[in-house]
Amino acid sequence: MEENKILTSLNTFGIACYAKYFVEIFSVNEIIQLQKKSQFTELPHYILGGGSNILFTGNYDGLIIKVSIKGKEIIKETDEHIFLKIGAGENWHELVAYAINNGWGGVENLSLIPGQVGAAPVQNIGAYGVEVKDVFEELEAINLKTLNTEIFDRKACKFGYRDSVFKKEAKGKYIITAVVLKLNKKHRINAGYGAISKTLNEMGVANPSIADVSRAVIQIRQSKLPDPKKTGNGGSFFKNPVISDAAYQALQANYPDIPGHPVDGQVKLAAAWLIDQCGWKGKRLGNVGVHENQALVLVNYGNGTGTEIKDLATKIMKDVSQKFSIDLEPEINIL
Ligand SMILES: Cc1cc2nc3c(=O)[nH]c(=O)nc-3n(C[C@H](O)[C@H](O)[C@H](O)COP(=O)(O)OP(=O)(O)OC[C@H]3O[C@@H](n4cnc5c(N)ncnc54)[C@H](O)[C@@H]3O)c2cc1C
Repeated sequence: MEENKILTSLNTFGIACYAKYFVEIFSVNEIIQLQKKSQFTELPHYILGGGSNILFTGNYDGLIIKVSIKGKEIIKETDEHIFLKIGAGENWHELVAYAINNGWGGVENLSLIPGQVGAAPVQNIGAYGVEVKDVFEELEAINLKTLNTEIFDRKACKFGYRDSVFKKEAKGKYIITAVVLKLNKKHRINAGYGAISKTLNEMGVANPSIADVSRAVIQIRQSKLPDPKKTGNGGSFFKNPVISDAAYQALQANYPDIPGHPVDGQVKLAAAWLIDQCGWKGKRLGNVGVHENQALVLVNYGNGTGTEIKDLATKIMKDVSQKFSIDLEPEINIL
């Protein structure tokens, strides 16, 4: 257990702040042992993965538990599927690369998403027409009250758009220790979303493999998103708002160009477009700002604080609400 741990390198915004106590756990048994520590029983605690979806707005006056449980194991195999159990502390993109190298499909569209495997179900990570729920079989999590291991299948996870039970009623109550993914031996190429097919064309690929799709996704992401190692950020700061068809048509009357994608009888708007229309894209306020190529990404140019980022987000939300009567919801966990 460490005291007054600096967290700058443990969050992708690169916010300099301290945790009163910090512990890194490598096994389920170490979680059980935590129960004997007063820092765990008497203080608030927060579970940390790769820190790529968290904004610290100050020092954390409790215990940060960083999950570093490793391991990959095939637990079942059929003619069509591999059931792979992965430790929550494994890096997500390394897992994607591992699956592709073994010829197992299903996660290639999710290439280069930062963070760890254990956090992937928490917000049901998604990109380029695929969400982790599409390959999810089940997960193991320790109930922090009873210390029992519980299994959550897809239904129990209550997956939604960037959402799951772990952001709602189960929030903070479990440590996810392992995730089982059901990967495909027979590949279903999903290149119809965003710029993937255009990029594959430019790469001269006519019949893409899962490795080709992954390469295209990596290329698109690298050209669009800032690398947190160079410019602190947490990816998309806001969720794309989902509104009724009637509300969308009303907006369209005033803004004929407003983009919208039908989802389950409703319409998903592009938060980046709304923010851009309010003039925020590329704007800088002191140490922080809105990325010049992607209005959904708020960045820390150097010595920015979490409060500066949060204040910027609040200003953006106010402007979008005033102009479009739409309430943006942060995708990032704000602490
Ligand atoms: C440049 C960039 C691009 C991104 N692109 C995408 C994208 O395309 N799609 C997308 O969906 N997301 C994207 N993200 C967001 C982020 O990568 C994902 O949310 C990722 O799953 C977070 O993983 P993490 O390990 O860093 O989680 P953290 O940020 O450490 O934690 C996120 C949440 O999960 C909880 N948590 C973490 N591990 C566990 C565990 N083992 N048990 C219980 N709770 C846990 C934390 O308490 C916290 O509430 C992007 C982020 C960045 C910086």
